[in-house]
Amino acid sequence: MMLPPGAVIGMVGGGQLGRMSAQAAARLGYLVHVFSPEQDGPAAQVAARNTVAAYDDLEALRAFAEAVDVITFEFENLPAASLELLESLKPVRPGAKILAISQDRTLEKQFLNDAGIATAPWAKVESLEELEAAVARLGLPAVLKTTRLGYDGKGQAMLRAPEDLAPAFARLEPKPLALEGFVDFGAEISVMVARGVDGTIRCFDTVENRHKHHILDMTLAPAPLGPDILQEAQGIARVVAERLELVGLMGVEMFVTAKGEVVVNEIAPRPHNSGHWTMDACPCGQFEMHIRAVAGLPLPPAVRHSDAVMKNLIGPDDMALWPQILATPGLIAHHYGKTEARPGRKMGHFNRLFPKGALPGELGVEDALELADGSA
Ligand code: AMP
Repeated sequence: MMLPPGAVIGMVGGGQLGRMSAQAAARLGYLVHVFSPEQDGPAAQVAARNTVAAYDDLEALRAFAEAVDVITFEFENLPAASLELLESLKPVRPGAKILAISQDRTLEKQFLNDAGIATAPWAKVESLEELEAAVARLGLPAVLKTTRLGYDGKGQAMLRAPEDLAPAFARLEPKPLALEGFVDFGAEISVMVARGVDGTIRCFDTVENRHKHHILDMTLAPAPLGPDILQEAQGIARVVAERLELVGLMGVEMFVTAKGEVVVNEIAPRPHNSGHWTMDACPCGQFEMHIRAVAGLPLPPAVRHSDAVMKNLIGPDDMALWPQILATPGLIAHHYGKTEARPGRKMGHFNRLFPKGALPGELGVEDALELADGSA
């Protein structure tokens, strides 16, 4: 059933992903009701309605569910009881099963492997003895991660030598942990995939993501890699969306190994930083696709009219460039409305478009980042 204009979409989570989803929803005539513990956050600033309450405040969640027509989220780490309550009251898209899988790295990897999709070799680790056994099997270097609540490289440790095991195991919380074999990757890529209520699947083009200090720095769209790899990534994203019976939008993050194999790192059942380029390079970007899927609207093809480079603006150093960014013709600037630019905090991004086929490798990236002198 298509949600009519004027209907209310409940958005759990109040950050920039909720903000940009709410902006897309408003364009389609919907009202967004944000549920978040933060007063006046990025999403709340642009939403029609707000509930400020903790994610485990069941009474507030009940009132929120009663006030909306459908529920989605931009924040994945909701307590299970909260999700269960929401699902008992209104349609939640994507559903609780998908969230449960994406919240736990071991469930996620098991699901992927069961679907025939390659991941880094991995093992669930509950004790130091199990960690030692897993390292004996997977070898070093390896990456030890919390199974829950990790993001942007938080909650993980690189293990290079046997003496790294005990301190990393002691430090990382909460347990259990997941050990992953180190993937010697040549590139990190991702695909945003949407699936509608009617089962239609739309994949945005495969992009390359470059990180700095474990945080996404830049996305190149399309990824400057061979057509086989781009296609393989699309196929993987499609299988993941089908197997999960996704209704909504999800990001699938992958590594391309030195040998050209594609292995999945993780999945995120929501709009994703690596899809921000679509806002300006596609007639229907990831946020509109997200809202359309959640609202039961038809999904248009995820076509791209331009190539694009997306550059994240992180913390005070990048935000010091804001005047220059605004003064540079061709940069499409997006500000998340956060007042305090703490180091490592995602404050905004900009997109630069290129004619299709004209993102000439490294040169394109350099061009994209060249700023005008903003002092004038
Ligand atoms: P994650 O929190 O799992 O997205 O990991 C953050 C970043 O750490 C990734 O984007 C990679 O750059 C790196 N990383 C994570 N897992 C591995 C792995 N198994 N092998 C090599 N690098 C990894």
